[in-house]
Amino acid sequence: MHSTGGLLNLDLSCCANALLQTFSATPELLDHLEKADLCGDGEESCNVPLQLRKALHAMNADVRSSGCHRDFLRCLHRNGICRSVQHDADEVFHSTLNFIHQQMRDRALAQEIRDLYTIGMKGKIECSACTHCTDLSSYVLSLPLAVQECPDSLENCVRRFFGREDLSDGDRFYCERCGEKQPSSQTFRPVSLPQILTIHLKRFRNVRGFTEKLHGTVSFPPTLDFTDVLQMSDQVPWQYELYAVVAHAGTATFGHYTTYIRYGESQAWCHVDDMHVRRVQWEDVKSTFGGHRCRFMCATAYMLLYRRRGVSSTEKNNI
Ligand SMILES: [Zn+2]
Repeated sequence: MHSTGGLLNLDLSCCANALLQTFSATPELLDHLEKADLCGDGEESCNVPLQLRKALHAMNADVRSSGCHRDFLRCLHRNGICRSVQHDADEVFHSTLNFIHQQMRDRALAQEIRDLYTIGMKGKIECSACTHCTDLSSYVLSLPLAVQECPDSLENCVRRFFGREDLSDGDRFYCERCGEKQPSSQTFRPVSLPQILTIHLKRFRNVRGFTEKLHGTVSFPPTLDFTDVLQMSDQVPWQYELYAVVAHAGTATFGHYTTYIRYGESQAWCHVDDMHVRRVQWEDVKSTFGGHRCRFMCATAYMLLYRRRGVSSTEKNNI
């Protein structure tokens, strides 16, 4: 059973520390890594799946050291995620999963790990001039949801993401029938949802060359029913339970990551801030909705991890 312990902040590693806590709270990932024969896959100190597995073992051990993730951080550094630099948690999340996928010799297992997180989508782009439709297939490892400055909810962010989007001006789409770029409309729908649904609340946006952080309120529920949110009443339920929140305090250029995770048989919430671990309540997790007056000190949720209810990871997720 997973236990929670803090991790030393080594050379500004709060971002990697926060992600390690979420990986540690995702035993499905370690279960897959356990099956792999990772030794001999190139230089061991550069092998992300191997070093991640070692770090997760060390974090789960009865006797653990708060510096047990040092080799994993070095490994990330050797793969270009440098020490002593502030990183974006969603980017490091993607990089880590991509390194795992690239560096594992067992391709089938590498794909199974990817599938744990993969959100499959089908899109349709309709030309506004001639109504010709182009079909697209796409997938993401985290759902990138745009956030507004005014009070918002996760459910609304999801509906906007899968709603109709007009592609005009610079975003016009090339229509095969018209033979030129035309104003178009785009819609996406989910076709397969994963065991682990990761949501990226896009709180950083670029305004005239500067990155700004949006501090507005985005509420999110402890349980999320995708079929309900998207009103897909004829589908089997896609029900999810929140088990980890990566929170960010600060500005776009300077900040600090911490994690809220649920663990153990009691499924109690804990707040992990590098070395410091404390039991908290759902009310404390809700404090990361945002909309605080103390905009720079108070942490806001940046990534949400939901686990699918009542479906084993080997069960087919497609509908
Ligand atoms: Zn057209």
